[in-house]
Parts: sequence; structure tokens; C-alpha cells
Amino acid sequence: MEFFPIFLKLRQQPCLVVGGGEVALRKARLLLAAGARLQVVAPELAPELAQLASEGELTHLAARYAAEQLDGQRLVVVATDDRAVNHQVAADAEARGILVNVVDDPAASRYISPAIIDRSPLMVAVASGGSVPVLARSIRARLESLIPAGYGRLARFGASFRDAVKARFPDVDARRRFWETVLEGPLADAVMNGDEAAARAEMEARIAAGGADRAGAVYLVGAGPGNPDLLTFRALRLMQQADVVLYDKLVAPGLLNLVRRDAERVYVGKARANHALPQDDINQLMVTLAKQGKRVLRLKGGDPFTFGRGGEEIATLAEQGIPFEVVPGITSASGAAAYAGIPLTHRDYAQSVTFVTGHKQDGTIQLDWPALTRPQQTVVVYMGVSTAAELCQAFIAHGRGAETPAAAVEWATTERQRTVCGTLSTLPGLMASHGIASPALIIVGEVVELADKLAWYRRSENSAVTIQED
Ligand code: SAH
Repeated sequence: MEFFPIFLKLRQQPCLVVGGGEVALRKARLLLAAGARLQVVAPELAPELAQLASEGELTHLAARYAAEQLDGQRLVVVATDDRAVNHQVAADAEARGILVNVVDDPAASRYISPAIIDRSPLMVAVASGGSVPVLARSIRARLESLIPAGYGRLARFGASFRDAVKARFPDVDARRRFWETVLEGPLADAVMNGDEAAARAEMEARIAAGGADRAGAVYLVGAGPGNPDLLTFRALRLMQQADVVLYDKLVAPGLLNLVRRDAERVYVGKARANHALPQDDINQLMVTLAKQGKRVLRLKGGDPFTFGRGGEEIATLAEQGIPFEVVPGITSASGAAAYAGIPLTHRDYAQSVTFVTGHKQDGTIQLDWPALTRPQQTVVVYMGVSTAAELCQAFIAHGRGAETPAAAVEWATTERQRTVCGTLSTLPGLMASHGIASPALIIVGEVVELADKLAWYRRSENSAVTIQED
């Protein structure tokens, strides 16, 4: 961490801006908004600064910079167009232990000012360490559109109940849960829509009632194939609200960073031969945690209802009367298809697509081969790495030509993605020689030929597409 983020209380504090131009004006306005007692030192002021001075908003020291002007200041902003002066002021301020910012010169600055989204008292600050301010500003622009203007009102509303809620809920967890139900529900909407009187009455009633002990719930959330950008908004919000998260191997580490920091994390992953936690135990664990009033996030790779045992997991919850919700995710077949440039259907090559599992049951791969080997379709095999050779053999044996294009996509959508393309007869050998391991999907059908043209995701050497040479 190059810069330590803080918010500074400047009301009535003496602050100095050195410089009298446009940049100085921008900085002066911000300092005035924070209530600083502002002095501006410059031989001459830009018209708007002069105006502020004449209105008594700030004091103009019509002089050249001199070190004594720093005495007693809390904070200094340097905005002259003379580099030598800027550095002199910075050095003098440093010597006095006064926080100093030289505009557009992070190296000479003790602090930098972030791009801000002001929903006072709620404030979001974004900084790039001074290195790429444009990046910080573009993030700010996006956040501006995401954070409703009413959030400031909501924050003030919350603040006005802070003491009452604290007194009513001495326990930190109970208090946080209370706030969450209030700030994320219809009551918050009422506040932001300006219906504050009704919201106030409702809030008082809820505090009096002790916040109606909220029952726990389980959220079965599809986390997508691994790239965090492919999460849904709903998934992200629930990740940020969960009390406990149960996750398994397929959830890429980058995704877990998005889960609320103080949420408890429980690994329940199942490696095929090495069941870390049997399915029944996972089901039971979710029930137990929810009954303790916790919001349980069951994070699944891809989509929970596509080879995700989601149906089994919620059956237990339904039996036990635990409230639950299922949030769909991008299944890995969709992710792999898009990132490897292999459309799953195509007017010319495939009018249907079928998802199957290559996992053996009772020692055999039980699939409807006559249906899967018909032409003009795409078949995507999940969990088929260890059975790839048998699978490809079976496709051929049941009549799909040995020259049918086939691909394996490993770690689809992530930085580790690799794609190998060949045919039903060559793919198992290619997979072995490239060391393709789980998680990977096998895609069979003419659409695979398009990968050469349509693949756009070739981030690193490691994520290269390997096309078999004829
Ligand atoms: N519910 C998940 C599938 C779970 S089954 C989904 O909708 O995607 C596990 C199999 O999914 C793996 O064996 C692999 O075939 C596939 N898989 C999951 N994530 C993948 C990824 N990022 N790249 C390639 N295959 C993946």
C-alpha cells in the first residue's frame, strides 16, 4: 500500500493554497466545501478566486510565497506552475510536519487527493496512487451512476438513529443484522424516495420490537466459471452480505476475495476420489448454520443447477423449512464457448447443443450414444478429463466420424485458460501431451473449427489456443 487512505476533518482548520490560478480554484472550492479556514497566497488571483475572497470565503495573501506563511497550517495545497516553487513549498511543509499536496506531482506530495463521489455523509474516494488519475476518474464516473443520489439522505437517516439502535442492540452482530435489514429493504427505499416521515415511524416501531429476529437463509449462488467479471450483480451483493460461505474447489480464489471480509469461510470441496465432506454433511451443515440465524452463501462454480447438485442441496432445505434462494450463474460451457471462440450453436453447423457428464457411474459412462452421435449438433462434456479417451472412442464407435472436430478448454474464462483443438481421434492424445487437467470441458462438433477464427481470449502464453496441424 503506497498511500494510506484517511478522511480528514477540516472544519475551521487553517489551510493554505499556494497559487492563484484555475487549479488553485478547484482545490480551494473543495477545501471550502469541507469547511476549512482558507488562505490563498498568490500575487494575483483568478477572477473566481478573487470573488470568493471579496465575499469573505477565503483570505487572500497578495504576496509571493514565503515559508512563514506555513506556520500554523494543517494542510497545504501547492498549485503554482513553477516547479521550483512547488518543490520549495513541499520541502518547507515537510520540515514542519504539515500535510502537503503538490498538484499532479505525487512524488513531491505527502498526500494525494482522490476522486470522490460525494453523498455526504457517505463519501467514496478512489485513488490510483497518483499514477493514473484517469483510471480513478473513470471508476468514479461509473460509481456515480451506481450509487443513487438518495444515499446521502439514507446515510443521514441512519445516523439519526445510531444511538437508539446501539442502545437497543448492544451485541455487534445483532446490530449489524438489524442495520442490514433496514438499509437493504423497503424502508431504505422509502427514505431515498423522500418518504421520511413514514420511514421514521416504521424505524421506531422496529427498534421497539427488537428488530424481529431474522431467520437465517441459504443462498445457492452460481459463481460462474471462474472469472470474477462474470458474476451476476445478485451474486455479488449476496457475497457481500453473507455471514458464512461454503465453497468448493471450482470457486477461483479471486472470487473469494469478493466475499465479505469477516464472513466465515468453510471449504467443503469435493475432489473426485477424495470426498472432503460428503454431500449429506454439506446439506446438514447448511441447515444447522441457517437455523443459527446465519445467512449462508453456498457458492458453486458455474451454475448451481447444471451438474452442480443444486437440486439435492435445496431438497434438504425445503424439507426442513429453511428459506432459500437460487441464483443462476454462467455455466462453464457458456464461458468456455465464448472465451474459446466456439459458438455452441450455429446456423450452418449445429442446431442443438447437449450438456452431458463424462463422470462414470458404476464404472461405466452412461450416455445416450445414439442421440449424441447424430450430426448437426454440439455436445459439451463436463467432468470428462479422466475419461476423455473412452469418451472420444465411444463417439467414434457409435458413428460420429473420427474426423469430427473436438476441443478441450481448461480453466475457461480465467487467466489460466488453455484450449486444445483436434478431432475425436486426436484429442485424447493432445490433451495428454499438453497436460490438460480438471477443470476442463470437452466440446465435440463442427463448431470447434471456428475457434481458430473467433477466439479472442489469448491473454498469455499460457492461455494460447493450440490448433492441431493437419
Ligand atoms: N455447475 C458447474 C459444473 C460443475 S461440474 C457449471 O455450471 O459449470 C464440474 C465440471 O465443470 C468440471 O469437471 C469441468 O468439466 C467443468 N468446469 C467448471 N468450471 C470450468 C472452467 N472454468 N473451465 C473448464 N471447465 C470447467
